[in-house]
Parts: sequence; C-alpha cells; structure tokens
Amino acid sequence: MPHISFPILMYHSIETVPKSTVMRSIHVPIKRFEFQMWMLKALGYKAVSLDKLSLYLDGKKEGKVVGLTFDDGYKNNLTNAAPILSKYNFSATCYLVSDCIGLSNVWDLDKGTTQSPLMKEEEVVKWLNFGMSIGAHTKTHPDLRNTSTKKAQKEIIDSKTDLEKSFNVAIKDFCYPYGGFNDELCKIVEDAGYHSAVSSIRGRAHAKSNKFLLPRIPINYHTLPHLFLTKLLTKYEEGR
Ligand SMILES: [Zn+2]
Repeated sequence: MPHISFPILMYHSIETVPKSTVMRSIHVPIKRFEFQMWMLKALGYKAVSLDKLSLYLDGKKEGKVVGLTFDDGYKNNLTNAAPILSKYNFSATCYLVSDCIGLSNVWDLDKGTTQSPLMKEEEVVKWLNFGMSIGAHTKTHPDLRNTSTKKAQKEIIDSKTDLEKSFNVAIKDFCYPYGGFNDELCKIVEDAGYHSAVSSIRGRAHAKSNKFLLPRIPINYHTLPHLFLTKLLTKYEEGR
C-alpha cells in the first residue's frame, strides 16, 4: 500500500543542556536525537528535507518518508545533527532568520530564554554542503499575526531574497515564527513564490494538505522513545 500521509518532524536545538536552561524543552539531547534517527531507519523510513518531501506530497514519488525540519538555524544543527543525518543518508530543512545569521535567538531575550548561537554564514554553507536544505523563517522572527501587512510582507519576501542572495540557492520553503498564521499571511507566502510553509498545527501531512499550512509533529526534550513512536505511528497528534 502506498504511504499517503507523511509525518513532518519539528525540531529546534539538538544539544545536551543543563537542567537550569530556560525553555529546556526545545533542546533535544544528542543521544536522544541519534536514537530517534536510528529508530526511523530501523522502521524503514527515509527522512527528507521539505523540498524533497514536496515530490511525495504531489504524488510524483512514492515511499516511506518523513519530513525533517529544524526551526531558527541553531549552530548545533550543523555540529550535532548533520553528522548523524549524513550517517543515515537523511536530509533536513533548516529555517533561518535572515537578519540573525551568526547571532543567537535574540527574539526570545525579553522572555529570559537561554541564548544559543545560530549558524554563521560559513556554517550555513557547511550545512548545505552536507546535502541539507534551508528555508526562510522571516528576517527578525516576529509573530506575524501582530505586525502590519506591510511589515509582514517585508519579513516574508525579504528573508527569501536575502537568503537567496547570500547562499545562491532557491528558497522555496517557509516557516511561520511561533506557528503564527492567518489567511492573509498564507496568501502573502504563496504570492512571494514559496512552494510550502510549515506551521505548528499538529498532525501528519498528506496530498490534500494546504501546502502553505503544513502540519507538523513537535519533538522536544520530553519526547522519550515510547512517545516518539506513538507520535510517529499513531493518530496521537491529530487534532491536538
Ligand atoms: Zn522559530
């Protein structure tokens, strides 16, 4: 039977962090991540970046695949995740905040969130050289639902053109900061020439999913092996 639904996993940081870390939940320890990738492989899945997943969603390719995404562009995606992904011949999409390349998650400073370094330009190049993909996550990571239309357009359109200029690759995939979307934002993303956008709606993607509102499955610090399997193989995430 062909696989008609595709889990898109949502990760942020892949790092083993101290207990005191604020927002520890976005950090998946390296060993746990490695085990999850091993489990995907053992179950016969191939993990792919969003540009590759599009072929499966469009019915142009068939196979047992999961989409793999990393939000924000943490340096540890390159140092900790990429070698593991490459070992299993997996690929992934990292969504970059184009004005924050080489900085840290400064948009969370006022919330007291622990700061983690983001990839510098040369590190993004290394990520691409690993066979990985990049997408846009706006210029400055605002909640687009709380910005003017004009500012939202600038954040969505300029992050695409800035990243294309810096890295000489087509930027086709977008990710809404804080999962924040509405009809107007979806339309701006589509008009900007993106092919897909991922949200924080939970569930699995399928051929009929709105391409500009793809659901995902969050994987975080607390996703222990049994929960990882439940999220992947059952309807656990649908409608959560
Ligand atoms: Zn983000």
